[in-house]
Amino acid sequence: MKLVDDNAIGAALRACVRCGACMQVCPVYRQGRREELVARGKLAILRGLQQGDLEPDARAAALLSRCLLCGRCNANCPNQVPAREAFRAARAGLASRADQGPAAALERLLIAETLPHPHRLELLARAAEAARPLAGLALPVLSGLRLRLPSLAMAANLPTPGGAPFHQQAPAELAGPAGAPRLGLFVGCVANYLQPGQARTAMRLLALDATVVLLPQTCCGLPAISAGLEETARQLAAANLEHWRQARVDKLVTFCGSCAYALRHELPRLTPGRDADHLAASVLDISQVLAEHPRRLAGLGQEVGPVAVHDPCHLRLDLGVSEEPRAMLRAAGVELVEMAGADACCGGGGLFALRHPELSQDIFAPRREALLQSGAKVLATSCSGCQLQWRAGLSGARPVLHPLELIAPPPA
Ligand code: SF4
Ligand code: SF4
Repeated sequence: MKLVDDNAIGAALRACVRCGACMQVCPVYRQGRREELVARGKLAILRGLQQGDLEPDARAAALLSRCLLCGRCNANCPNQVPAREAFRAARAGLASRADQGPAAALERLLIAETLPHPHRLELLARAAEAARPLAGLALPVLSGLRLRLPSLAMAANLPTPGGAPFHQQAPAELAGPAGAPRLGLFVGCVANYLQPGQARTAMRLLALDATVVLLPQTCCGLPAISAGLEETARQLAAANLEHWRQARVDKLVTFCGSCAYALRHELPRLTPGRDADHLAASVLDISQVLAEHPRRLAGLGQEVGPVAVHDPCHLRLDLGVSEEPRAMLRAAGVELVEMAGADACCGGGGLFALRHPELSQDIFAPRREALLQSGAKVLATSCSGCQLQWRAGLSGARPVLHPLELIAPPPA
């Protein structure tokens, strides 16, 4: 079977020595302890597909869909096997061939037909808002109905849109002090359409020490990549790159761990060239910028009681950012508490939570216990996907916020 990106698959198959070290870290494998759930087993499936021993059918696609694309296997593999890249490539190859059923087909159609079109995305955000009363039925989080209608559960946990999309209400540029660096702000789809308050805070806090350029944007492309829609992801990356070539910014700043991963690692893969490499290398999480000026943040923290911070996989593993969100909150005067497994996967994984709601919630369950035992009154996490997962899993037991929502910028 010829898959879309045979290089990635071939490299992983050649490098894997089947040692099984990935079994220690895979959140999905921990649930079932079955070989096909771990990277080694999934690579064996890819080998079977490559050699023609397995058919590239719906069953193969379903087996490979049981992966969060979290990158833990890569990070902990003694042979540095690019397993996640191989699974991503296989997903793309299978998406174009295998009949994965009507739900997956509808999901792919929705992604391909909405993400590249901001107007349609806005309509979708409003439709989700309209569906909220239905989703808000008093269904327990693990009820069969919710699990069968995962989109309802997701809609129930979507934040309430705060009026017009951020890009329609914000200035194109916010001037900082004279001689300050120029930072390009990528706010991402969730903040733009559903959580503009986060974007407003980000822009104002960054402007304390920089001139902030609000970058025109399309989606970062991660949902398309996760669904195996490489061509859609390529279109989105090319559109973003086109927007940003002229922006003349020193750094590109985002405040969602998944967007940061997509811009840092997927943008240059999808649109190879010097411009993409340059922009990708400049990507920073906002906490990396704000934590450098702790005195600016003093006294800006909200008094909400002890806060536990969760590390999104993409932020910690792919950008190496873990201490900075905590340093930023501490500098603002927010009280932090330790939470066991703060760096463990929440089980969201973007589309994974929609496709495998029970498995996703099983992976999440220890996170809920750890949070409740930590004594925290609030959970803070810097990824829009993780926020949705925590909200769904906690079902109101604790507020789930972005760390930025715990900092109030000084009056303009
Ligand atoms: S992917 Fe890496 S850790 Fe897993 S079996 Fe292969 S070599 Fe070992
Ligand atoms: S990417 Fe994550 S979920 Fe997928 S096989 Fe690797 S460790 Fe497991």
